[in-house]
Amino acid sequence: MSEERPIVDCHTHLMWYPDHVGEQYAQEALASKLIKMKYSGGEAYSAQLDLHSYDAKPEAHWKVSEPAAKVVVFGLQAKAVGVWVPNEVIADYVRQHPEKLEGWASVDPNEPDCIEQLEHCVKELGLKGLKLGPVYQHFDPQDRKHWPLFKKCQDLGLPIMWHQGTTFPSRARLNWGLPLQLEDIAMDFPDLKMIVAHLGHPWEEDLVVLIRKCPNVYTDISAVHYRPWRYWQAMVTAMEYGVAHKILLASDFPSATITNVINGLRNVNKLVEGTHLPQISVEIQDRIIYENWKDFFPQWA
Ligand SMILES: [Zn+2]
Repeated sequence: MSEERPIVDCHTHLMWYPDHVGEQYAQEALASKLIKMKYSGGEAYSAQLDLHSYDAKPEAHWKVSEPAAKVVVFGLQAKAVGVWVPNEVIADYVRQHPEKLEGWASVDPNEPDCIEQLEHCVKELGLKGLKLGPVYQHFDPQDRKHWPLFKKCQDLGLPIMWHQGTTFPSRARLNWGLPLQLEDIAMDFPDLKMIVAHLGHPWEEDLVVLIRKCPNVYTDISAVHYRPWRYWQAMVTAMEYGVAHKILLASDFPSATITNVINGLRNVNKLVEGTHLPQISVEIQDRIIYENWKDFFPQWA
């Protein structure tokens, strides 16, 4: 890492099979990873290609975090798809490397005491944001019964990382995964900072128009370089609508490493080289890698 140009990875996970991830999830994750490896030319994290392909233990996470100055790390609590990472696992790891790591919580909005759980994560465990994934957790992000949770996040200054896009588990509920379903939350809680992961794939166009009009909603480029054609189109769309400055660098480790994602971004124009089709400039690429995080995380700038 160059000293003058620090980078931030705003989306990484800790979780491993079988402690936090059920067998069906691990099987389906492996099948999905093999396809990503094929179309990305191997630019996915591939410590193992078995039920442990999505394992992210602290040692592995720490090793691949080397290029980043700051790394946001969280688990996921989603009984519906067989994933449950205790927030204590995140807090324990962050305590070992407080200069680099920032831990965020995950609570399941279906749990009646989810707000108390979140307060515990903030006050007792020192976690500083919230990870939500309606497709994994089986909740409707437009249901007003969840508004108190979002209000709590806004009051406590906790940003939310949303998985609002498609995913692989057969038990996921895609009809709660559309980026535009976050519009009412963004409008009712204008001070709530949110990141919608993965450019909202494969609803990148909806994601782009959402973040264009919602000042505090951003996105990240994790887990999208595996599909080079979609990725290039999504990036052109973001550029043409003027939202490239709201794209944050992220790996979604163990899906990929930050190095994989930077390589993917540097290769974004490869498919269209030698044509008249639009290209993503090196300047935009550099801003995504080195600059855009400063708006979302001014405390680290
Ligand atoms: Zn993720």
